[in-house]
Amino acid sequence: MCGKENLSRRETGLTKKLLDKDAKRLYCLDCLAQYLEVDTESLLEKVEEFRAQGCMLF
Ligand SMILES: [Zn+2]
Repeated sequence: MCGKENLSRRETGLTKKLLDKDAKRLYCLDCLAQYLEVDTESLLEKVEEFRAQGCMLF
């Protein structure tokens, strides 16, 4: 966790959706990708998928 501030809604949404909806520690896109061992590109695709599903976190 890099401690980056002012995370975007996309980043906080992903942390909550993929890790824990009550997550206290939020991850930026790069850290989240590293943590989950995926690339940032596929995380962004996930965001689009979740949005398409009408997810309220995004
Ligand atoms: Zn980070």
